[in-house]
Amino acid sequence: MQISAKKLFFDFYNLLVPRKCLNCGKNLNLKENQICLDCIYNIPKTNYLDFIDNPANQIFWGRININFASALYFFTKNSALQDLIHQIKYSGKKELAYELGKQIAFGIKKSEFYSNLDFIFPVPLHPKKFKKRGYNQSEWIAKGISEILKIPLETSILIKTKNTKSQTNKNRLERLENVSSVFSLSAEYLSFKSKHILVVDDVLTTGATIEACCIELLKIPESKISVITLAIAGN
Ligand SMILES: [Zn+2]
Repeated sequence: MQISAKKLFFDFYNLLVPRKCLNCGKNLNLKENQICLDCIYNIPKTNYLDFIDNPANQIFWGRININFASALYFFTKNSALQDLIHQIKYSGKKELAYELGKQIAFGIKKSEFYSNLDFIFPVPLHPKKFKKRGYNQSEWIAKGISEILKIPLETSILIKTKNTKSQTNKNRLERLENVSSVFSLSAEYLSFKSKHILVVDDVLTTGATIEACCIELLKIPESKISVITLAIAGN
């Protein structure tokens, strides 16, 4: 039996600095990062990636003209996933978002609804939240997807603008976190013409933030948009 130098080094390193699963606390093996495979498989999946009339997609029907939307996992109260997402957002565990992003990519690979994607666009975090957190968790999820699918990340399409828009239309978007009043299309938006954009976010609830992003992205000529989130809230 041959023991590789890498394995030997890993075992030694792990003895000194044990890497533990952020969910169950078990020691991770060489192939695992942040979370063990058992815990990943135990997060309840939606299977929404495989059918068109799924509840995530339905959220956007009649609101914006997108190609497809789905969510990988169910987000429920007091679940392991709720704790994991809490760690991602409030305990600096951005690499965990990256690992879960890879799981999204495996689902996308098997789905017939996400074909010919050109680039990945993570939903931007409100600048105030970004300043506080230091990173955008959706961007880290998107990085994990990008790594597996070999599709580039594009974060410069929407740029931060001064929040000076009038509040004349106090609709659903105005009341909730309003991306469209904070972000707008960059001057180079025409270079993103005729592309299939994958919009990525962490948890899908009302869909307002994603909708606001898509309204801007749909101003790019001939753009096609698909949406994926790590989880969908509810039930
Ligand atoms: Zn675990």
